[in-house]
Amino acid sequence: MFLTGKTALVTGSTSGIGLAIARALVSEGAAVTLNGFGDPGEIARLRAELGAGYSDADLTRPEAIERMMAEAGPLDILVNNAGIQHVAPVESFPPEKWDLIIALNLSAAFHTIRLALPAMKAKGWGRVINTASAHSLVASPNKAAYVAAKHGIAGLTKTVALEAATSGVTVNCISPGYVWTPLVENQIPDTMKTRGLTREAVVNDVMLAAQPTRKFVTVDQVAALALFLCRDEASAITGANLSMDGGWTAQ
Ligand code: NAD
Repeated sequence: MFLTGKTALVTGSTSGIGLAIARALVSEGAAVTLNGFGDPGEIARLRAELGAGYSDADLTRPEAIERMMAEAGPLDILVNNAGIQHVAPVESFPPEKWDLIIALNLSAAFHTIRLALPAMKAKGWGRVINTASAHSLVASPNKAAYVAAKHGIAGLTKTVALEAATSGVTVNCISPGYVWTPLVENQIPDTMKTRGLTREAVVNDVMLAAQPTRKFVTVDQVAALALFLCRDEASAITGANLSMDGGWTAQ
């Protein structure tokens, strides 16, 4: 249990990739704070299962982030994972969706990092792990806000890694391809509409067509990489954008 005595916050961890990362950190002894939305009964069940704390902060609101960070206390591990998607051509992309996606998928990580870094630097040990995306490296049509935010978080990762380089704090992002989670499932209807495709065609000809392996990435694979980044053996990995995309961005 190499994370015994360490504290961690995983944003967007009531579902999908974040929940798998939270489970992995707990399995190695970390004391984890969960964050995200969902059914209160299900969140209570998760908290009991993981012995975890929980913040219901809406991370599109900087003041809610400040409250969450104060309640979580000094962190050893910060995982910026909460994210949403909206699929529409740029001319009809709702401006309020643009603002929400930039706020959650990019600006929230700036706020958590600026608030978490001083304690990590003071301790001389810390891990910041951002869930980026293959869309931090390449684009797809109809995802202007998401692609802009994910390219942004890759840049934020590199910048903070340089600033923290001599302090024992590593800062990296993981860039998954398509992972089967509610975020992916929920964009199927819009993609069917904007591209005039059936459900099967969206899954096979849009999503899996991007991945040479023709397989979805699993949440446990992403969590295993996040866990490795917390090991001392990973202390030389910083400022990296680690692809886990079935070969998508190799093309
Ligand atoms: P998900 O929908 O399963 O989980 C998203 C989480 O974010 C949930 O816990 C949700 O409650 C939380 N959340 C949503 N709005 C929030 C808000 N305003 N404040 C706080 N929390 C909020 O999605 P996922 O697929 O597990 O995505 C997690 C991350 O992985 C995202 O950043 C996403 O962009 C990224 N990602 C996903 C895929 C994929 O294919 N699923 C691929 C690459 C990157």
